[in-house]
Amino acid sequence: MKRLLFASLVAVLGVVAACGPRRPPQKFQQKLVILGFDGMDPRLVQKWMDEGKLPNMKKLAASGSGVQPLGTTHSPESPTAWASFATGVNAGKHNIYDFLIRDTTTYLPDLGMVHFEPPKFVLNYFPVSMPVIQSIRGGTSFWVTAGKAGVRSSMLTVPVTFPPEDVPNGELLSGLPLPDIRRTMGTFYYFGTDLSRYEEGNTEFGGILKRLVFDGDVAQTELTGPPNPIVKQQLRELRARVPAATMSELDKMKMAELEAREDVRLPVTVHWNRSGKSATINIGDSTIHLSEKEWSKWINLDFNINLLIRVHGMAQLYLIGAGKELQLYISPVNWRPDNPPAAMSSPTRLSADIYERLGPYRTLGWAEATWPLNEDRIDEKVFMDDLYRAFDDRAQVILQRIDTRQWDLLVGVIESTDRVQHMMWRLVDPTHPMYDKALAAKYGDAIERVYRKCDDFIGEVMARVDPSTPILIVSDHGFHSFRQSVNLNTWLVQEGFMVIQGQQPGEKTLQDLFGGGGTFWENVDWARTKAYSMGLGQIYINLTGREGHGSVSPADSSAVQNALVGRLLTMTDPKTKVRMVDAVYKRDDIYKGPFIQNASELQVGFAEGYRVSWQTSLGGSPPGIVYPNMKKWSGDHGSYDYKQTSGTLISSRPITGAHPDIMDIAPTVLKYFGVPIPSDIDGKPIF
Ligand SMILES: [Zn+2]
Repeated sequence: MKRLLFASLVAVLGVVAACGPRRPPQKFQQKLVILGFDGMDPRLVQKWMDEGKLPNMKKLAASGSGVQPLGTTHSPESPTAWASFATGVNAGKHNIYDFLIRDTTTYLPDLGMVHFEPPKFVLNYFPVSMPVIQSIRGGTSFWVTAGKAGVRSSMLTVPVTFPPEDVPNGELLSGLPLPDIRRTMGTFYYFGTDLSRYEEGNTEFGGILKRLVFDGDVAQTELTGPPNPIVKQQLRELRARVPAATMSELDKMKMAELEAREDVRLPVTVHWNRSGKSATINIGDSTIHLSEKEWSKWINLDFNINLLIRVHGMAQLYLIGAGKELQLYISPVNWRPDNPPAAMSSPTRLSADIYERLGPYRTLGWAEATWPLNEDRIDEKVFMDDLYRAFDDRAQVILQRIDTRQWDLLVGVIESTDRVQHMMWRLVDPTHPMYDKALAAKYGDAIERVYRKCDDFIGEVMARVDPSTPILIVSDHGFHSFRQSVNLNTWLVQEGFMVIQGQQPGEKTLQDLFGGGGTFWENVDWARTKAYSMGLGQIYINLTGREGHGSVSPADSSAVQNALVGRLLTMTDPKTKVRMVDAVYKRDDIYKGPFIQNASELQVGFAEGYRVSWQTSLGGSPPGIVYPNMKKWSGDHGSYDYKQTSGTLISSRPITGAHPDIMDIAPTVLKYFGVPIPSDIDGKPIF
């Protein structure tokens, strides 16, 4: 499986991080600030604004547009919508339809925003080529078009800006999908005496669990770091040379030996002071003393691939418990901004410059600890404490760059709004299966508090920029309650569009996706399968000539689509008889552009409360079609009907026309700076 990213080969290959060009002199009198808050819902903004809780947003809204729903994309999810924000075009022209894409030959899912080619080594030691990381996003971002015209821009943690692109006359600090050191969206670690041997391993949501066994007061364990690209290369070569079925005992031993070294590991020693309810942890070159319920500062962690190559990361530790049980949480290992494994900003120096001014700040695109809370390894308090810090890290970077005053256009995005709603929606929805009265009394205001934090931050920005500078507040989509999970593939099986031979397949984990080697679609009889679902509400026709084992001819595709649409629209919750699907959209009706062939034939728009299941999103088809969502991940937006999932727009300038759309931001910026709007842009200026 292709991977997100990799390796600290920059120094080895003698590629010196280029220092960015000096900023050109100021050419434009006008300035513009855009602040993005992922998933900020216009209904919640309006409600809390009316209650007087968002005074700064109210001020902006009153001077300009009011609070507007901002039209979002199919499917209403961050990668797709932020790509449309950047380019002003529909997904048919920018090619980002979902977090996932599928390989049409093998049907395997892959992360859908970047293409990764691993580095190459000779003699299993010396690097001869750098890893290649390419964004698959098409279209041209407005900061590039504006930059070519001389607009000086500062683009900060906007989603879908990794790898960083060159911005003429500008700077860019990457956001999502900038991965952790393991090239995942966030592998967390949990070490505990309370784990049984059977609970050890990789969790559904990307955690690594390890049981701690103490000999007296000391336990030894290890932290799984980045994959070793040299061992990965050896494994690829071995697998290519010898098919699994014909592997000799010797090859099998070699394979096992390599697999044991597939990841670089750091030894960890935990000294437990039971009576003092504390622990001292040795990891890498650091010794960290923590009391129960205490966070460490950022700890540098270096991983040696060999004597030539070192990968630099940093993590925070949290001692969950040290009384009856010893439980230690370690955050995903973030790239070190002063020495990242690959460029994470443009110019490359920028991430280190910010580090020198602010100290460590988290670099992982998915910056909040959603996965460990979803797996019940940390609690709501730890999640929220960490989330506030994630918010502050992004906010501090944005404020620091505002203060440089070397920009005409500044765009900064914070995603904590999205994460808090994903995880805490269950505490504002008493009808959610995971609603908990006691927890709601304590954390029922978590979402509101983050919206108010946004408002405070907006106030800080307003205080720093000239009042004549327009400020746009933008979000990419809204939010819904995610009460019921829908196994769309299982439904396709039930309706006869997909055929399974023999046993119903087992459950998939994120590790299957991230780690490679996961099995997907086992037991699917492709010759008799007409359609399959992957990602958030996408249904693909199993087309001959396109899919590896296509069974539907292009001439029959339309009839299969029509049959599917008809069935989907009558899909009802077996318990309540409520309709679960609001709308189904056909590819040719919603997309146009050069990448349309990569789109699914159908996009399902689920009704409030129903979301496609995690298993379906990874291509799984476990038993049962609708079941209550018993995870803390309880609010969502992906796979809901886009009409009901608009984002938010607040413009301090009055806007023209009705129904603003996320594709309208790019042409608005270009017009504001007097830059000609390219003819292929789908949006229209709003002022
Ligand atoms: Zn989200």
